[in-house]
Amino acid sequence: MSIEDKYQSLISYFKEPARRKTFQAWPFKNNEKCNANKMAEAGFIFSGSSRDPDSAQCFFCHKHLDGWESTDDPWDEHLNHSKECSFAKMKNAQSHWTAAEWFELYSQYRRNLIERKYDEQRKKVKELFDKIRSE
Ligand SMILES: [Zn+2]
Repeated sequence: MSIEDKYQSLISYFKEPARRKTFQAWPFKNNEKCNANKMAEAGFIFSGSSRDPDSAQCFFCHKHLDGWESTDDPWDEHLNHSKECSFAKMKNAQSHWTAAEWFELYSQYRRNLIERKYDEQRKKVKELFDKIRSE
């Protein structure tokens, strides 16, 4: 996957339904507090595997959390472990945000992604440069 494609797919996680789709193998049921809908609502995407079935990551601040319990509140856990995350600070489903809140968070998210993308590209160029110089 090219850097361009990777960042396009990361941008899609700004939408709650795209995050919810990642939770197909989530171990908690819908009647439990820590269910897939609540996880997606609170900004998480599933990042687990068969060995690590309850691992999730915030799409916005990239904080990784595992060891979830059925009674955990995803918003509370998110904020407790990532106090500076602007998404977690909202403590409210995106469907309840104002247009101004949407704009602010979306712009912040795009800025963060662009910075990450440039860091990654800078690293690649430096590696190439080092390789050429060492030949
Ligand atoms: Zn976060």
